[in-house]
Amino acid sequence: MGPASGWSHPDPPSNSLNWFASTLVVVTENRDIAEILRRAADGGRISPEEALLLYTDAPFHGLGEAADAARRRRHPENIVTYLIDRNINYTNVCVTACKFCAFYRAPKHEEGWSHDTDEILRRCGEAVELGATQVMLQGGHHPDYGVEYYEELFRAVKGAFPDLVIHSLGASEIEHMAKVSGTSIEDAVDRIKAAGLDSIAGAGAEMLPKRPRTAIAPLKESGERWLEIMEVAHQRGLESTATMMMGTGETNAERIEHMRMIRDVQDRTGGFRSFIPWTYQPENNHLKGRTQATNLEYLRLLAVARLFFHNVNHLQSSWLTTGKDVGQLSLHMGVDDLGSIMLEENVISSAGAKHQSNLLGLIRMIRSADRIPAQRNTLYEHLTVHWTPEDDPTEADAERVVSHYSSIALPSGGRAHPELKLIDAG
Ligand code: SF4
Repeated sequence: MGPASGWSHPDPPSNSLNWFASTLVVVTENRDIAEILRRAADGGRISPEEALLLYTDAPFHGLGEAADAARRRRHPENIVTYLIDRNINYTNVCVTACKFCAFYRAPKHEEGWSHDTDEILRRCGEAVELGATQVMLQGGHHPDYGVEYYEELFRAVKGAFPDLVIHSLGASEIEHMAKVSGTSIEDAVDRIKAAGLDSIAGAGAEMLPKRPRTAIAPLKESGERWLEIMEVAHQRGLESTATMMMGTGETNAERIEHMRMIRDVQDRTGGFRSFIPWTYQPENNHLKGRTQATNLEYLRLLAVARLFFHNVNHLQSSWLTTGKDVGQLSLHMGVDDLGSIMLEENVISSAGAKHQSNLLGLIRMIRSADRIPAQRNTLYEHLTVHWTPEDDPTEADAERVVSHYSSIALPSGGRAHPELKLIDAG
């Protein structure tokens, strides 16, 4: 056999959306890789060892084509979704001191702050006015914030904006609030759900395996505990997403192990709607400059994730951390969701993410990748499908709906990032 040279395949029949998997001709020296890719593209289950082999050794284009075939099998309509939402931070005070985090301040630190409910409601109101369907309320592990704080906050948001979906918190916050209130995870979940929490964000997963997790977040709950809490939430009717932060010094095997841990829970609960990997941002935190995932590592990871998570419906890429070009490329690596126009984001941008887009920019990013853009809600239901450019918002309307990264949450007005643009709250 000649040198490994990628893949070849016949032209797709125009009437078939699923031509790839069944007609695939693999040209690679490694028969194992060819068989694994075919099986995964056909919707079969692959093992963690097989996923690792694909991650390290599969030809890049073949990996992408197989992942795209898996995407088409799951989402044959060729639509890529986006969301309009706002991340609203209620406090930056945190006792957990993760080494990768540029957002938090220790209790009693002079730059620590908390927003009152009126300010949070004001920001929710702005978001609704700009077309947001979801808010992500996100903050530090404040030593005084127990279940009661979140009950009051969610009730206030739902009282003022009954249609606004609260997709917020993560297993780490639930662990913390239950401890502060001296109650069980089950009780905490039931109470915040009753108060208005609609969906749990996958935040706090970072890296779930013990070695890398302890290295970057020694005071956070274990990866096993994070998953246990998610499982409780799923069982009690709160679905979630699952995230992964890559690039803090974890090995390839640990990246795959992170996904295996999530897939095992998904086998039991089916409660993860999507998987959302993103790349660690290196500024203003204790890991600064030591590590970072490359774009190629990120794109390969996305493709392997699409092939590995045969039981998770959606795969979202993070253009916010990798940029619009990589975001667009990711749509050819099995991704079916490009995340959101985040009307406000302070956590990742505090660590250096500086990519922005307005609504039309995001729509065009999707369309020029030969996909059909659609605005979705939290449940991935399509709200507006942009079949043609005639379905797009006007330039004037789209200009108003723009992502803002900032350090507005800091009372210093963004001292950590003086170059960042502040959101216009008026
Ligand atoms: S990532 Fe979250 S838990 Fe960790 S220090 Fe930052 S705010 Fe606190």
